[in-house]
Amino acid sequence: MKTTATLFSLLGLAFAHDSHHAHIAKRQSAAAAAGTQVVDGVTIPPLASITFGMPTATTPAATATATPGAAPPFSGGPKLPSPAWAFAQGQWPEMDKPIDSTSAQVQEWMKELDGYDIPDFSPTVDGSCVNDTAAEADAAKRGWWTCGGYTRDTDIVACPDKMTWGVSFDDGPAPYSTVLLEYLKQKSVSATFFVVGSRVIEYPGILINEYMAGHEISVHTWSHPHLTSLTNAQIVAELGWTRKAIQAVLGVTPTTMRPPYGDIDDRVRMIALAMGLVPIIWTRTDDGHSFDTFDWMVAGGTVPGSTSFAEFQSILGNASTLNTGFAVLQHDLYEITVDLAVGYTLNAALTHNPPFTLEAVGKCSKIPTTNLYVESNTNKTFPFPAPPKSMASGSNSSSSANSTSSGSSSNGKVSSQQGASGTGGAPRSLALSLPLGAAALLALAALL
Ligand SMILES: [Zn+2]
Repeated sequence: MKTTATLFSLLGLAFAHDSHHAHIAKRQSAAAAAGTQVVDGVTIPPLASITFGMPTATTPAATATATPGAAPPFSGGPKLPSPAWAFAQGQWPEMDKPIDSTSAQVQEWMKELDGYDIPDFSPTVDGSCVNDTAAEADAAKRGWWTCGGYTRDTDIVACPDKMTWGVSFDDGPAPYSTVLLEYLKQKSVSATFFVVGSRVIEYPGILINEYMAGHEISVHTWSHPHLTSLTNAQIVAELGWTRKAIQAVLGVTPTTMRPPYGDIDDRVRMIALAMGLVPIIWTRTDDGHSFDTFDWMVAGGTVPGSTSFAEFQSILGNASTLNTGFAVLQHDLYEITVDLAVGYTLNAALTHNPPFTLEAVGKCSKIPTTNLYVESNTNKTFPFPAPPKSMASGSNSSSSANSTSSGSSSNGKVSSQQGASGTGGAPRSLALSLPLGAAALLALAALL
C-alpha cells in the first residue's frame, strides 16, 4: 500500500522534521484501524474521521519545482519571472489584514475606475443578509448574490455543457494544495484556483506549481473580506494587491476574480470589471441549491465530513436536472478539505454513472487560456472592450444563473462570450439581457 510518505518522496518533497514522520505514522495507524482508503497513492482517512480536530498529516514542502525563466504552461504565455520573485519586507500589505486604501499605490489603481458609473450603494453592514435588512430589501436592485442569488450576465456562474463540472478551489495556495495537485495530475483534471494574495506571497512556490501544472489562476482578494461591506477604495485595494502579487510570482495578471463568500453586488461587479476582472461565482439553482460542498464548515468545526459529503451527493443529484453544467465551490486551504476532495467528492464525480467531465472553469467555458491573463490576452474584447457604463434599472437578471427550465438566456457565460466574440461590442449594462438560442450560443462559442 502506498502511503502519504511514499507519495511525498515520489514528489521529491523533503520533510522538514523527523517528528513529521511520527505524526504521519500516528495518523496512518489511526486511519488504518478505522478503514483507510488509498486513492492513487494518497492516503485518505475514513469519512467518519474527517472532522475538526482530526490528527493531521505532515505538511508538504512548499518549494517550486519549476525554475525561474521556465517556459510557460500554455502557448502564448510569458516565461516565469527570472530571477524568481522574493518577498521584500515592507513592500506588501500585512497578510490577512485590511489594507490601507489611502496609499499612493491604491490611489493609482483607483484611476482604473475613471469613466465608469460605479453604483453608489452604501457598503453593506457585514455582507450578511440578517445584519442589513435595508440592503436585503434592496437586494434585487443591488444585484446582491448573497441575499437571493442575484447574478448578472457578466458573471460566469456555470460551465455551459451539461454534465460538466467546473472544478474550483479557493483560499490557497497552501501546503495541502500539493496533495491535491498530485491527485489532479493523476486524473488529468484541471482546476481553477482562486487564490488569496496573502497566501500567494506566503507560498509562492505552490502557486507556481499550480500554474505550471496547467491549472487556472484567478483573484480571490488579499484578506478575504465580504467585498460588499467595503468602500470602493478598499475593494480596489483587495483586488489590486492580489493581482499584483500573482503577477510578481507568475508574470501573469488574471482577468477573472471570485468574491469571497460569493458576496458581490453591482457596485463590486462594476469595480471588478473596471479593473479588468470578470466575476466567477459558483452555481446556485432556482430553488436555492448551492453547488457548495460546505467543506469549509468541516474545516471550521461546524459539521463533520460525512455531512459535507451528504450535501455533496445531493449536488450530484441536482446536476443531472440542469440544462447546463455547473461550477462547484471547494477549498484547498485545509488538509481536511483536501482530504474530502481527493478521497470523496472528486472521486465520486469521476466514478459517477454517467461520468461527469471535470474541468477548470475557464476551460469548460471555452475561454482560451491566453484570455485568462492580461499578458497573453490578444483578444482585446475580453473581458470586455470597455466595461458597461452603467447598470440598467429594471433589470431582468435572474435569481439563478441556471434555470432548470429556461435554457440559455441568463447564463453569465453567455455575455462573457459575447464580450469575447466582439459581436456586440461593449455591453451597455451589466443587466443586459441576452435571450440567445442554442444556435447563437454555438456560434459565439465558435468565435472564441
Ligand atoms: Zn474564499
